[in-house]
Amino acid sequence: NKALRQAVIAGNWKMNKNRAEAAELINALKPIAADKTCGVIICVPYTNLETALELTKGTNIKVGAENCHFKKSGAFTGEISADMLKEMGVEYVIIGHSERRQYFAETDLTVNRRTKAALSAGLKVILCVGEMLAEREDGITEDVVELQTVAAFTGISAEDAKNVIIAYEPVWAIGTGKTATADQAEEVCGFIRKVVANKYGKEIADGMTIQYGGSMNEKNCAELLAKEDIDGGLIGGASLVAEKFGVLLAEA
Ligand code: PGA
Repeated sequence: NKALRQAVIAGNWKMNKNRAEAAELINALKPIAADKTCGVIICVPYTNLETALELTKGTNIKVGAENCHFKKSGAFTGEISADMLKEMGVEYVIIGHSERRQYFAETDLTVNRRTKAALSAGLKVILCVGEMLAEREDGITEDVVELQTVAAFTGISAEDAKNVIIAYEPVWAIGTGKTATADQAEEVCGFIRKVVANKYGKEIADGMTIQYGGSMNEKNCAELLAKEDIDGGLIGGASLVAEKFGVLLAEA
């Protein structure tokens, strides 16, 4: 039942926007987001976090990072810890995005460790799962997302699990303009909810926000967001233009 949970639209800016561009986009977004009832999150590059936190103060726009490391501190050149993000006032962090898994050798183990680190630092997590094209064609989509989901939640308490949003993002749909059909997306989001119910029970599963992501935009969002088990979206390309992101916020 959709009424049991909040729809959340989260932007994933990826490696886009310098500081001036970030400020411009956020300032344009503020009035558009102000009267919307869904949750609104923007996940921005580390270099834009301070700007985003400053400009969204007192608004309904929440700020997230796009990754964090699993150690508290140490010799990890180029990494940022969950505690560092928390100290800045960041509220959310994306973990396990398929681009991290594909290009930066993230595994189910590192995703699990990063998720644990983020939650214990007091951050909320947007956890990404999703199959590759070859896996879908092989008929193992459910096996893949079940393994990824179970692995990511290993050792995480039910109480902490309430601070996780899951984003189902089929890898073949990301940045390709190829969206999953609403029925395909609904089928997997519903399946993920069952996986969560198996581990944490129906109440937590029914309350969990499960987003779809992958070429979701102002044109195709209505059909996706109307589905029972799709509670919003993780938005790449369409989150970089205020008017487009605004349409998604209005539909959610
Ligand atoms: P896209 O990206 O909307 O540009 O496909 C989605 C994502 O990677 O989260």
